[in-house]
Amino acid sequence: MATSEAGIQVSAPAEAAQPDAPRQADLDKCVHCGLCLNACPTYRELHLEMDSPRGRIFQMKQVAAGAPISDSYIHHLDLCLACRGCESACPSGVNYGRLIEAARAQIEPYRRRSWAARMVHNFVYGTLLPSRSWLRLAGALLRVQQAIGLQAPGFLPRWREIESLAPKVEAPFFFDQIGRVFPAEGERRYRVAFLAGCIANIAFARLNEATVRVLQANGCEVTIPKDQTCCGALHVHSGLRDAARELARRNIAACLDGNFDAIVTNAAGCGSTLKEYYELLEHEPAWAARAREFSSRMKDVTEFLASIELRAPMGEIRATVTYQDACHLAHGQGVRSAPRELLRRIPGLTLREMPLSDVCCGSAGIYNVLETKMSMDVLRSKMASVAASGADRIATANPGCMLQLQAGVKRFGRGQRVSHVIEILDEACRSATGRGSATARPGHNG
Ligand code: SF4
Ligand code: SF4
Repeated sequence: MATSEAGIQVSAPAEAAQPDAPRQADLDKCVHCGLCLNACPTYRELHLEMDSPRGRIFQMKQVAAGAPISDSYIHHLDLCLACRGCESACPSGVNYGRLIEAARAQIEPYRRRSWAARMVHNFVYGTLLPSRSWLRLAGALLRVQQAIGLQAPGFLPRWREIESLAPKVEAPFFFDQIGRVFPAEGERRYRVAFLAGCIANIAFARLNEATVRVLQANGCEVTIPKDQTCCGALHVHSGLRDAARELARRNIAACLDGNFDAIVTNAAGCGSTLKEYYELLEHEPAWAARAREFSSRMKDVTEFLASIELRAPMGEIRATVTYQDACHLAHGQGVRSAPRELLRRIPGLTLREMPLSDVCCGSAGIYNVLETKMSMDVLRSKMASVAASGADRIATANPGCMLQLQAGVKRFGRGQRVSHVIEILDEACRSATGRGSATARPGHNG
């Protein structure tokens, strides 16, 4: 097993991957009724059984019965967005998210990558994502590249396409806030820990600041635990469960002893994995109970705010907003009403539902980079739904979805503005108090 500089194991031998293979009991729950087909973005685009949830489960069953892990099997599983839309639609309670993650862990040792692709893969998952210093360096380099407008040459169209989907770097980075404690405004009602993500520290630094401000304004003391790291969601979705387990142990150790009322994230994709740490570590006696405790305290920030009495005054926002359900919030965590409730509480704001709001936008972690064609086909359909709502602003609750929807507005949209729900709440709070964008009350080192 290879271990990276950051100490994260990024590949596992076949025998070690076996415990992560799809469980027969999960596979057996599927009765092949097909009620999930219409909820599946890849089936909606291709109308191919092998690219539907039912077809993918059928293929997993064949592998469980001894069929080889073929290139075709890997292809059909790779094309799955892991959006879990099928899970919500399934009347038999099939835990498709667990199945696809386990199936990807099982196929990981069978993947063929060139030497260069293996190096990039190991660097990104093993070194870059878990390391603050590497992320800071990558952010600084990207910032220079974006500032001088350096682009991939025209004879590398694929690189150009990837560049168009890459996040804009936001300086100053949020890393400097890690380890600090931000006091509540007024009476302290709650103590919360905020997990700031990995790439979000360089690409969504302003969103992270807005998250701290909104929590402070509503009576929360916000701690940004200093030893936190990447949540491991991208690792789990790519089948790198041992690497994700190492990150899970670090985050649990960083947060749990603080005895916080809640541990919050503003990224639905991260939240879904963070809430499932108990499954990742269920076979580790030293960690299983702590992982369960951690997962029980984990909340999406919209879920947490909707569960407490909001007390920050909010000014008017005159906009017609449509809400795009982030898959890992709606299907992964079952949180649908909280973001909508928060938006409805903003004076002047009109919330208008789009059709199929809980069908994936095609972002799905790094899926839009790896499977760009399907991702863009799914995005085109999503932007047609957005247009049908007539909204001039799109709200969502996941940074990855924001990037994808911004690309959607550029390619297929009508100039709609894309925001995180928290950014709109922050805007409303600041317009009520006439405050600028600085954090409400500065923090101190924890
Ligand atoms: S996953 Fe659920 S909805 Fe889909 S075919 Fe199987 S039982 Fe039916
Ligand atoms: S996770 Fe999403 S893309 Fe994958 S089979 Fe289910 S609905 Fe389809």
